[in-house]
Amino acid sequence: MKDKVISGKTKICGIIGDPIEHTMSPVMHNTAFKTLGLDYVYLPFKVKNEELKQAIAGARALNIRGLNVTIPHKVAVMQLLDKIDPLAEKIGAANTIVNDEGILTGYNTDAYGFIQALLEKDINPIGKKILVLGAGGAAKAICFILAEQGVSLVILNRKLELEWAQDIANRIKQNYTINVRADELNKKNLEQVLANTDILVNATSVGMSPNSHETPVDAEFLCSNMVVFDIIYNPFPTRLLQEAKTAGARTIDGLEMLVCQGALSFEKWTGQKPPVDLMRQSAMRLLQKNEK
Ligand code: NAP
Repeated sequence: MKDKVISGKTKICGIIGDPIEHTMSPVMHNTAFKTLGLDYVYLPFKVKNEELKQAIAGARALNIRGLNVTIPHKVAVMQLLDKIDPLAEKIGAANTIVNDEGILTGYNTDAYGFIQALLEKDINPIGKKILVLGAGGAAKAICFILAEQGVSLVILNRKLELEWAQDIANRIKQNYTINVRADELNKKNLEQVLANTDILVNATSVGMSPNSHETPVDAEFLCSNMVVFDIIYNPFPTRLLQEAKTAGARTIDGLEMLVCQGALSFEKWTGQKPPVDLMRQSAMRLLQKNEK
């Protein structure tokens, strides 16, 4: 493959967040652009909270085609956009912006990425009993897209932030007719809920590097008739996924979700389906390199 030549016609995409140094998105998207021979480039932009407004104004002024949005801007960015996709509106967070001739539209591809990662493994969530751990930004997107599919949902979050989990459950009840409840994340509740769970989703940051020795669920609660999905992709695999595999459970890793959300953003910017396997391989190589 030839090296990329930037010309006056090259379209620019990127990611805004803070911190941004750890991002896998540039390698995934630039690999996909290059493979398909598209005249696009994808760049990381470190944007502080207080500079978000100027960054979005800058993206408009510079005619940037698309942006991914990561921590801490997924909620705050919404009020700076012209249109919001209905699912992103319900979730209350956007992680992808498409610029159509000056009209900026916000989407939540994290949510679709999560569902797509399940479907890629031939796991259909419809009608399943699902336990989501956490009530942060990612958990919120996951809970809403699951509610849209029609599942039975329990959200467990640590005590201090229980009101966040309760808020998600309440908002889901207002929008969908599904069984949903929120409770405190502790051993007793974990044991009780997991005894009747088809799919366990870890959407907390427990077990994320550098705290790779941690796990949100003790191994004794994992069993072979459940699917365990840990949305953390660093380390790869997490302790939770290693222990789930040992227990005989089916596992899905966070890299799958990351790649699927990226693939959907890519499609929105270019109108083309990206080479998903190559995106995954490029992200995996970067993860392994960073681990050394
Ligand atoms: P966030 O908004 O900061 O939420 C973090 C969640 O983890 C909160 O519910 C938090 O509870 C909980 N938590 C943190 N430490 C905990 C502990 N010691 N015990 C119990 N709960 C704890 O972050 P986020 O954006 O949702 O991201 C969460 C994780 O998902 C991160 O590891 C991120 O890298 C990963 N992620 C992956 C993808 C992907 O595509 N694979 C996409 C997005 C995020 P409190 O509210 O009580 O602090």
